[in-house]
Amino acid sequence: MRMRLIALGLVLMMSGGAFAEGQWYKGVTHIHTLWSDGDMAPEMVVDWYKTRGYDFVCLSEHNRLQEGEKLVAISEKNKLTPEHVAAIEKRFGADWVTVKEEDGNPKMQLKTHVEMGEYFNEAGKFLMVPAEEMTSISGAPHVNVINPREQVPGRYGDPGMLLNKYMDEVHAQSEKYGVPMMTHVNHVNFSDGVSIEQMMQARRLQFMEIYNGHPSIRFEGSEKLGMPAEERHWDVLLSMRLPKEPEFILYGMSTDDSHNYHKWAARESNPGRGWVMVRSEKLEENALVEAMQRGDFYGTTGLLLDDVVANDTSYTVDIAEEAGVSYTIEFVGTRTGFDTSSTEPTVKPEGGTPRPSRVYSDDIGVVLATVEGPEATYTYKGDELYVRARIMSTKPQDNPVEKDAKQRAWTQPVRLVK
Ligand SMILES: [Zn+2]
Ligand SMILES: [Zn+2]
Repeated sequence: MRMRLIALGLVLMMSGGAFAEGQWYKGVTHIHTLWSDGDMAPEMVVDWYKTRGYDFVCLSEHNRLQEGEKLVAISEKNKLTPEHVAAIEKRFGADWVTVKEEDGNPKMQLKTHVEMGEYFNEAGKFLMVPAEEMTSISGAPHVNVINPREQVPGRYGDPGMLLNKYMDEVHAQSEKYGVPMMTHVNHVNFSDGVSIEQMMQARRLQFMEIYNGHPSIRFEGSEKLGMPAEERHWDVLLSMRLPKEPEFILYGMSTDDSHNYHKWAARESNPGRGWVMVRSEKLEENALVEAMQRGDFYGTTGLLLDDVVANDTSYTVDIAEEAGVSYTIEFVGTRTGFDTSSTEPTVKPEGGTPRPSRVYSDDIGVVLATVEGPEATYTYKGDELYVRARIMSTKPQDNPVEKDAKQRAWTQPVRLVK
């Protein structure tokens, strides 16, 4: 089948009507290393991903880019042990590692984004894309920027205000350098959370995580904290904003948010759990960001698609099926004329925490059709605001956080607002 996603209506107009004919590239946009609170040297982390067939990675450290000098103490008591340094020397050669003495203690100098790119990048095969996790000092929100040229500082304040601040700063930077940059709101249910109503205020909102492999992010929500599942945030935001803001769209990311690379367990934030497949005409940072801004990608925890095609009458999902595995494809959307009312959150915050969301109608994010099998086409009835697809597999997810989790994928919504 032809490999392209045709985004409808305004998405099409905004992207100048130019579709990318391209191939699928596998990448992760949310990764930590010793540059912030990850527990492995950045080159070992990049090597982990590259040797497992990822095409691009974005190291997204908390409030910093991988530039300048950063020294990490080598000690049995620290994250970087003498054994780890020996493993780096074994993998990259003895000349690769730079050790400096500071206050009488040995410290390893971390490789910069540029140094790692020189080693790992291969035209058409592998690419390191710059990134940062803009991390609020007040807990939430955390917002990733992909393809920045300058570091954006983490700030303190109300989450709704901060979302706008981060996104405005990235927008200004994108204009200044003339390169596309994108932001995605991370793990909306982590810590105190970011409520749907706070997300509602974010004028430039275009991406949010709907899956993140960190074990503490409650991506399926928390009744106790009044936090709906991340997918529910997604559907409510699309449904409530689209009728008033016809240019609005919100795409779902699947990420690792990996920090732990030495110990493998459900409760560790290990790599390999969530990623995106981006259809781009080339493996180049601007092209990848533009493809995601067109919605030409999907998030997954393991299962892969051959094709996604949304045209002006229907939405087709075609799975790269594996023998002995069954699939369920659900088309999800909200119909025009839905009940827009909402009621008070079920949890009362004390001292501003947690940040529960209001409760919205069951008309939002309904399953429009369910198909068992590796391929399905949904023909629009004409009353949908948007349509997206959620795909479930019977194949277990690799090293899952949730016991017995199966592989899933989420394709992007298309707007059908008249
Ligand atoms: Zn975070
Ligand atoms: Zn993170």
